[in-house]
Amino acid sequence: MTGQTIPFFTQAATFDAEWDGIRRHLNDVIDNGKFSHGAKVAELERALELWTGARHVAAVNSGTDALVLLLRAAGLRPGDEVIVPAYSFIATATSVVLAGGVPVFADIEESGGYGLDPAAADARVTPRTRMVMPVHLFDRPADLRGLAEVARRHGLTLVEDSAEAIGMRVDGAHAGLRGAGGALSFFPAKTLGAIGDAGAVLTDDDAVAETVRMLRHHGRGGRTLGDFAGIANATVVPGRNSKMDDVQAAVLLGKLGRLDADIARRAELSARYDARLRDVPGVRRTPGDAPPRPGTGRVVYVHLVEVDDRDALAAHLAARGIGTEVYYPRPLHLQPCFAYLGHRAGDFPRAEAACAAALALPLYPDLPDEHADRVCDEIERFYAGRRRVR
Ligand SMILES: *Cc1c(COP(=O)(O)O)cnc(C)c1O
Repeated sequence: MTGQTIPFFTQAATFDAEWDGIRRHLNDVIDNGKFSHGAKVAELERALELWTGARHVAAVNSGTDALVLLLRAAGLRPGDEVIVPAYSFIATATSVVLAGGVPVFADIEESGGYGLDPAAADARVTPRTRMVMPVHLFDRPADLRGLAEVARRHGLTLVEDSAEAIGMRVDGAHAGLRGAGGALSFFPAKTLGAIGDAGAVLTDDDAVAETVRMLRHHGRGGRTLGDFAGIANATVVPGRNSKMDDVQAAVLLGKLGRLDADIARRAELSARYDARLRDVPGVRRTPGDAPPRPGTGRVVYVHLVEVDDRDALAAHLAARGIGTEVYYPRPLHLQPCFAYLGHRAGDFPRAEAACAAALALPLYPDLPDEHADRVCDEIERFYAGRRRVR
């Protein structure tokens, strides 16, 4: 097969373009000599507070640890139930377990995106429910108005898995700030990606921020670093080592200046895919098909289509050098690690249907228009070929 390969994801061109700025920040780190949890991390936190409008951003080593520490800081206690969508990245649910809680799955919306359905979440509330954790997946925020109302009605704490949601906004605020807080991921492929693992908690709640800062550093830091009840150097709560390293902070600072432009370019590419693919037979659903949710600002992190014969299409594209990904191949309630919850196929049909049909197309700011067009050409060719065979 000839022709240029179109990877599902690459940051190569971004690094070429931004290398001078990134190198300046990296030199600071080397000169400073503190490589973990140092001045560059603090500088990134301030920059992200400005960019998101959050009162606090606490940097940690991954989006997953951001979720775990956020859940603990928001008051999750052993055995508490947290309602989460059955369709998401695995860490949405495993973070609840790692924080000592029990994930309780609910189905996603019928239309309008892939978020937790407020009515379905409401139906899963029990006397043991303490929190509800929506996820802002792919290209738009979950129905936070509806879910905040469910939380209010039952006295639950709202926390947000906003790992994919940098730049998404709901009713004038950055995603993650509606309730106790949100988690961000800077995994390389995310909208703002590091060159390794990194994450952050964003919150407007002073106590949540202080607890996260303590928990990420072995339970030290904040007020507990000095004396506590007369005990010097006291560690009051067992924390973790979830510190961000300064090399990641340097890279993120070097890329933050182009984040707005990156987000605009992602929207442009996504609209280009939408325009071409919307009417292709075999393509059942594209992001543009879902009506915009009132009061929200979209950011296209993943351009996800639902298609017929998904695996055959993915193989067709792969054979022509085009990378795709399946987000997500298995619904959370059918993951072996949650077998103890006793779910079966059919329990959350919308989540299961999404897993069977979803395919994510290459999308990053440096993807040339012609590459997006070639992806569309090959998708059209695949379904045209199928029609001829039948
Ligand atoms: C990426 C992601 C995470 C985890 O973030 P990491 O930085 O990879 O640990 C959690 N939830 C969702 C929805 C994600 O997409």
